[in-house]
Amino acid sequence: MSAEGSGELAGSTAALRALFDHHVHSDRSDGTVSLEGRARSVAIRPHGVSDHYPWRDKLRNEDDVLRYLDEASRLGLRVGIEYDLGVAPPLTARTREALHYVIGAVHQVELDGKWVGFDDAGAFVKGRTKMFAEAERFADRVLQAKIRERMLEVVAQGIARDRIDILGHPTFSALQAVGDPEIVYPEEWQERLIALCVAGGVAIEVNESYGVPHREFLVRAARAGAAFSVGSDTHFELRPLARTEAMIAAADLERSRFLGGARLSRA
Ligand SMILES: [Zn+2]
Ligand SMILES: [Zn+2]
Repeated sequence: MSAEGSGELAGSTAALRALFDHHVHSDRSDGTVSLEGRARSVAIRPHGVSDHYPWRDKLRNEDDVLRYLDEASRLGLRVGIEYDLGVAPPLTARTREALHYVIGAVHQVELDGKWVGFDDAGAFVKGRTKMFAEAERFADRVLQAKIRERMLEVVAQGIARDRIDILGHPTFSALQAVGDPEIVYPEEWQERLIALCVAGGVAIEVNESYGVPHREFLVRAARAGAAFSVGSDTHFELRPLARTEAMIAAADLERSRFLGGARLSRA
């Protein structure tokens, strides 16, 4: 009885633990808040910083990344990067190990030698634009299939070669902007993406800004034994994780399966 009671207590303490937000931008890439500002808001709720790499003149190479890591850690922050899958140069083991975690994320894919960008789709998904001008183009089934296959390829590469720890906004692409995720992302494709993450020890991000992945994906991932990670993906002031909490509740995800500011240990 007493053992059972303490077990319940441990469970309820874990349930109350604040979720750690791994995905936060600063003015070291395209965010609006300084590292000092980010260090202050850790008092509101636990979070790290994870700026885009590479990023224009700010995070051009790994020397820049190591400087960023040094400056942000001195301020007491946990530090990651949002590694641009399919675009960023290979990440050396030294830099990867020095960072507290690496988020890999797809923002565009190269198909037949041409880049297909997701920025306009992202602005639409985030509600910054009312229309998605390219909706018709991305409704094409052949193009959709090519995008999905390329996404799997760059994620697989990010896991095997660059050893990412978290897959950021896993089902965000231009396809998210054109329809029901259960249609644009067939179940079989979702299972393949989840299997890559589970086998690679990569956590699946619940992304507040894009509202992805959808409930069925999260349920499938939990069933497959995946770990999860919270990412507000904020570029502005820190806001409550209202959507994330709703997504976690809807998919009934266990809080003990969420990362807490550090990567999963791997054998
Ligand atoms: Zn991103
Ligand atoms: Zn981001």
